Amino acid sequence: MLTLAIIKPDALQARNAGKILAQLEAAGFVVRAARLVKLTTTQAEAFYEVHRARPFYRPLVTFMTSGPALVLALERDNAVAHLRDVIGATDPAEAKPGSVRKLYGASKERNAIHASDSPETAAREVAFFFAEGELRELG
Ligand code: ATP
Ligand code: MG
Repeated sequence: MLTLAIIKPDALQARNAGKILAQLEAAGFVVRAARLVKLTTTQAEAFYEVHRARPFYRPLVTFMTSGPALVLALERDNAVAHLRDVIGATDPAEAKPGSVRKLYGASKERNAIHASDSPETAAREVAFFFAEGELRELG
């Protein structure tokens, strides 16, 4: 099963992307596709469309377009739930010890990583960034 992760601009800026990817691989995830992107405002707005009415929407779009982000299609069994577990709660202050957000997040907004929140969302989010033919097998 696939899920989508985005190592966010704060983590790239802080040079934490390699450590985060190593943690994900150690947790059993296989990288099926990866792309370093600088999201456009239109892309970030579309990606976070469900949050459009929330007060944090505009600052979130500004943050997510502020620098490069590393988009990853990741595979493992029960990938969506496992990745949510590995990254921890949205607010790093509430994230469990050892989770990506506890280790590398600075605030509820600048929380180092995104992960799809359901299998339906994962399918939509993987397709948002990657065509079927861009998904690779490790073999
Ligand atoms: P993500 O979707 O990035 O995996 P999430 O599912 O834990 O995170 P959501 O509720 O979907 O959290 O919010 C999406 C993103 O919006 C969060 O990761 C965070 O960057 C930002 N965000 C959410 N709530 C707040 C808030 N109260 N204040 C500031 N930013 C927020
Ligand atoms: Mg979410």
